[in-house]
Amino acid sequence: MRGLDSHDELICLRAGGQPVSGAEPVLPPIVQASLFRHARTADLLDGLAHESRRTVYSRGTNPGIRALETSLAALERAGDCRCFGSGMAAIAATFFAVLDSGDHILFAGDIYGPTLQLATQLERFGITHSQVFPEGESALDTIEAALTPATRLIFVESPGTMLFGLLPLEAIARLAQSRNILTAIDNTVATPLLQKPITLGFDIVLHSCSKYIGGHSDVIGGAVMASEALVQNIFERGYMLLGGIQAPLDAFLLTRGLMTLPARLKQHQADGEVLARALVDHPRVRRVFHPALDDRAADLFERQLRGHSGLFSIEIDAPDFDRVCACLDRLKLFGRAVSWGGVESLVIPAGRADGHDPRRPFNLVRLSVGLEGPDKLLDDLDQALGQ
Ligand code: PLP
Repeated sequence: MRGLDSHDELICLRAGGQPVSGAEPVLPPIVQASLFRHARTADLLDGLAHESRRTVYSRGTNPGIRALETSLAALERAGDCRCFGSGMAAIAATFFAVLDSGDHILFAGDIYGPTLQLATQLERFGITHSQVFPEGESALDTIEAALTPATRLIFVESPGTMLFGLLPLEAIARLAQSRNILTAIDNTVATPLLQKPITLGFDIVLHSCSKYIGGHSDVIGGAVMASEALVQNIFERGYMLLGGIQAPLDAFLLTRGLMTLPARLKQHQADGEVLARALVDHPRVRRVFHPALDDRAADLFERQLRGHSGLFSIEIDAPDFDRVCACLDRLKLFGRAVSWGGVESLVIPAGRADGHDPRRPFNLVRLSVGLEGPDKLLDDLDQALGQ
């Protein structure tokens, strides 16, 4: 665990803005306006010709939202960023912008379910997809063998959804570049503070800001980050046309969340690791899926990540799915809920009750470790698992 980059910590703390002249507010204004008046018609027409940069209509550019976009682009070392009303809106606009009929998406590793469902919907428009689960030394070969002449985009999650497996991002980016294929990563699990895929050669980084970036389970949001040219393309072909934009108040809440992200993340990370290590030796836990505890991924962990958050999964010792649910029902501090990344600890069954997916057995459970303190949380898990 390398700790956070102090430059990043400052970007977050100053996300509200810098003093430029005289006294400045410490947070960006919430510009609750759908449109912007212009002094002259010529200015309006000029604004309309450059809507990604100029304030004309808030389905395009809004100053308060732009402040958040600037901070996120800086954190991901990207040329630009656009924020959306949800992570799925960001993913949908990106697919819509960069893919054409006849293109193929290769998904590598475990992917958030709705992203795959969206790809299935794209089949109606002549866009196909396939998925591989690369592992270990042969990971890159697995990906290379699955490419087709139509592959336009390699889309990954690393750490991957639910099992937190890691993929060799630099090697994937090099392979894709050599074939003129775009690379995109859903970097939500790592947050921009723990992994910077653009510096590893990836083209597009996506986030659900509804998790650690917001951090208080009170706002839904998403973001895409890439080179200025790519973000401009996504703006023109996806963002403005699909209209899945961020609301000004939500952008304000996300900026406020970003300001405390380093402090929260350090605590989530430390407490998550204490819990994960304790559960490795727990008699009622069969397996723990946490990238910092996976010896086979140690090299990638060291090269790609500055650490891991408070999110991990366990396989509990239970004979059937009903008994898994009964165990989760006994938890008092952990809440039973979807999503993650807030101050409250949460659990969700992550396995398939029908047992059809061997990667996701019925006894798999995902934990999001909040800020209640590891001792109390461990006691809670002990009493729930123990019976
Ligand atoms: N990506 C990952 C890894 C997620 O876990 C989620 C939501 O759970 C999303 C994307 C979608 O984000 P949102 O719910 O903000 O649309």
